[in-house]
Amino acid sequence: MGMATGRRRDAVVVGSGPNGLVAAVTLAQAGWRVEVREAARTPGGGARTEELTLPGFRHDVCSSVHPLALASPVLRRLLADVAWCQPQVQLAHPLDGGRAALLECSEESTSAGLGAGGGSWRRLMAPLLSGADGLVEAILSPRGLPPAQPTSLAALAAFGALGAAPATSLARALRGEEARALLAGCAAHSVRDLHAPVTGGFGLLLALLGHHVGWPVARGGSVAITEALVRRLRELGGEVVCESPVRSLTDLPPAGAVLLDLTPRQVLAVAGDKLPPGYARKLAGYRYGPGVFKLDWALDGPVPWKHPGVSRAATVHVGGSMAEVAAAERTVARGRHPERPFVLFVQASVADPTRAPAGRHTGWAYCHVPHGSTLDMTEAVESQVERFAPGFRDRIMARHAMGPAALEGHNPNNVGGDIGGGTADVRQLLARPVLGRQPWRTPVPGLYLCSSSTPPGGGVHGMCGWHAARLVLRDAKARDPMAASGVVRDVG
Ligand SMILES: Cc1cc2nc3c(=O)[nH]c(=O)nc-3n(C[C@H](O)[C@H](O)[C@H](O)COP(=O)(O)OP(=O)(O)OC[C@H]3O[C@@H](n4cnc5c(N)ncnc54)[C@H](O)[C@@H]3O)c2cc1C
Repeated sequence: MGMATGRRRDAVVVGSGPNGLVAAVTLAQAGWRVEVREAARTPGGGARTEELTLPGFRHDVCSSVHPLALASPVLRRLLADVAWCQPQVQLAHPLDGGRAALLECSEESTSAGLGAGGGSWRRLMAPLLSGADGLVEAILSPRGLPPAQPTSLAALAAFGALGAAPATSLARALRGEEARALLAGCAAHSVRDLHAPVTGGFGLLLALLGHHVGWPVARGGSVAITEALVRRLRELGGEVVCESPVRSLTDLPPAGAVLLDLTPRQVLAVAGDKLPPGYARKLAGYRYGPGVFKLDWALDGPVPWKHPGVSRAATVHVGGSMAEVAAAERTVARGRHPERPFVLFVQASVADPTRAPAGRHTGWAYCHVPHGSTLDMTEAVESQVERFAPGFRDRIMARHAMGPAALEGHNPNNVGGDIGGGTADVRQLLARPVLGRQPWRTPVPGLYLCSSSTPPGGGVHGMCGWHAARLVLRDAKARDPMAASGVVRDVG
């Protein structure tokens, strides 16, 4: 990656997560000289892949499933080199008694498989699907203009009306345990109590993406996303300097703009002395949510799911009925550990054979736990999988566990194990991390935020970085319309 240098840059990005790298590439595409400083040994933040268990088993250390990357207008363009592995079934949600709900790309097949609930699923999804392109783009650009297409505008209105509701209320529109469980599992990605407002919106968006773009994994692992972005940055003359933890803005080379791919807590640590007290106070009041407990397994064969359809999915939501999923998430939201946690399980090797030696498989899973939890959830997670796949434990050759402290050690942005860059409740969806039309801009001229603690929030979509970089370019142009690059004044 090269040694840190003190050479002047047009922009320095601190942190090489998907948002940091997208910001860097966007600026480099505008002709800026960009350097990215990364604390870890390798770039990528939440998009890394390592042999965590045994040689030949490639595990996604953090993110693994990428509907948001495929839906993202900016990553769709920048990741043309990444091969996406689409499973036959986008998402499976097993239920007791050998039943399962299966989300497929085709809404018709999904609804047909939901039995009595099929018609209600179709009625919920149809208004969104008809304007999905513009709707998804609008959700990922929450401070942008509404979509011009009338179908997308109508879809956005429907999404606004339905998605503001708690998932548990929205589920009343659905018939049958299968359809309700499907929605609940998607909504639980919000890491919130499913009785809370807007959790319905999370459920709708992720289910919609299953129909619209699928829930793929990246061939070779999520690191392929990072490698494609780093390659693009280098082609444009930018560089990534690893093993370069930034403790203060004074650690950085002189630059016209500094973009922090950091959450408010590290922003205060790195730049607190430069920030006006009122702004610093707001950042200090930013709230983080529950953590996650993550497990990776090397398996000596496929997971023996009771329902055969579950074996065709890469992502499996393990936790039973909507009532059970909601109870588990409510327990976590109240600061306790559920006995039967809701488990997000990914068997990437079902869709991508490069993840494990022939005949073997990888398993990846996490469950939500209270912020900063130190409890080992291995037994609880494996029991849940075993419940729907008897014999799972016998397939385990090796396992690797990471609780909140290990996740935060791996990447300081995972504060207390929070993987979403801060609580995504109504308040912090609007004020992310502060209220304003351009929350990527700080009050310090030239200093910007570009992490998932800015809109549109968590997930590998790069849109936070893209919005931040476009604002940097706009601000530079406003200061000096004639300048080829944006260098006006130094930060730090
Ligand atoms: C276990 C787990 C599972 C997930 N699963 C999914 C999934 O399946 N799909 C999905 O879309 N999303 C998933 N996510 C969320 C996704 O990974 C994040 O939302 C995304 O990576 C956020 O990107 P970012 O660029 O904002 O920050 P990050 O990816 O967190 O990157 C920040 C970078 O900044 C570096 N850094 C921090 N402090 C400093 C410093 N002081 N100096 C220099 N560098 C610093 C860090 O080392 C890191 O590389 C998951 C996350 C985790 C942890």
